[in-house]
Amino acid sequence: MNTSRSEQLYKTACGFMPGGVNSPVRACKAVGTVPLFIDHAKGSRIWDEDGNEFIDYVCSWGPNILGHCCEPVINAVKAACDKGLTFGACHKGEITLAELIKKHFPSMEMLRLVNSGTEAVMSAIRAARGYTGRDKIIKFEGCYHGHSDGLLVKAGSGLMTQAIPSGAGVTEGCTKDTLLAKYNDTESVEKLFEEYGSEIAALIVEPCAANMGVVPPEKGFLEFLREITKKHGTVLIFDEVITGFRLSEGGASKYFGVIPDMTTLGKIVGGGMPLACYGGKLEIMQCVAPLGSVYQAGTLSGNPCAVAAGIETIRQIESIPNFYEELDRKSAMI
Ligand SMILES: *Cc1c(COP(=O)(O)O)cnc(C)c1O
Repeated sequence: MNTSRSEQLYKTACGFMPGGVNSPVRACKAVGTVPLFIDHAKGSRIWDEDGNEFIDYVCSWGPNILGHCCEPVINAVKAACDKGLTFGACHKGEITLAELIKKHFPSMEMLRLVNSGTEAVMSAIRAARGYTGRDKIIKFEGCYHGHSDGLLVKAGSGLMTQAIPSGAGVTEGCTKDTLLAKYNDTESVEKLFEEYGSEIAALIVEPCAANMGVVPPEKGFLEFLREITKKHGTVLIFDEVITGFRLSEGGASKYFGVIPDMTTLGKIVGGGMPLACYGGKLEIMQCVAPLGSVYQAGTLSGNPCAVAAGIETIRQIESIPNFYEELDRKSAMI
């Protein structure tokens, strides 16, 4: 296979961007190859700058659930672009998308559109802290929730400890309120609640862990989290940035039948455009500005072109018969 153009572009890119990339995983370090520079894609196929054709199993890490260049989605975005790329003001597409999301995630009684999964999680945690008036949060070792400071932490040993920053540039102050538990280990969670119960604003979890390989929740684990958070007045956040509209049209929450207080969505919900959202119980979301005192804003939030992609992606999922059965069949086959 000839990858000389990709190699050349990679060399050039390295002079402009750290490691030649705009997101570290794209450097293909773990794959042991030079990053491929993509020219275009269609359906299940993707083509690099050297003209090599590949089956794309990555699907942009989730968003391309309909395959590349799904025509109705592309057309919806084109039509939106023709009307203006951004208004910095309200438009009715925001309502349509919110309605569609709420239809499938009824526990998101109110929601806010943002630009990335990182931003959705960061904002959900801020809202949970504002709502509870508490500082601490619990996250699980191995769960990824974006790159905001307070969530970039790892456990010291296998034991649950006070979290220490897992990368340079994150201060101890930023992570001192992040407590770490072990996924599928109820005891590790119980211990944290015993010690810090009344101080814990939120517990955040990938309801089906997908960023340390796919690790499904053991039977009863999510139910346990639901119960213990309820008992302590802690906001249960399902980070469904990757599972939302993937495990089912109602995400992991619907699939496993456990209802969180708050949910974050990203990836698929934006249909390939930079769009994500967070939402949940009315009384929590009413804490968010301008209704409440939790500030969160965004120049491009609810961007009309991104919203158009989200709306059409969900409509496609809804209208293609047996969409998830077929997806499961293909996944099982692979
Ligand atoms: C991808 C991902 C994020 C981060 O989303 P970005 O859009 O990359 O910021 C957060 N949580 C989970 C579970 C994810 O898979």
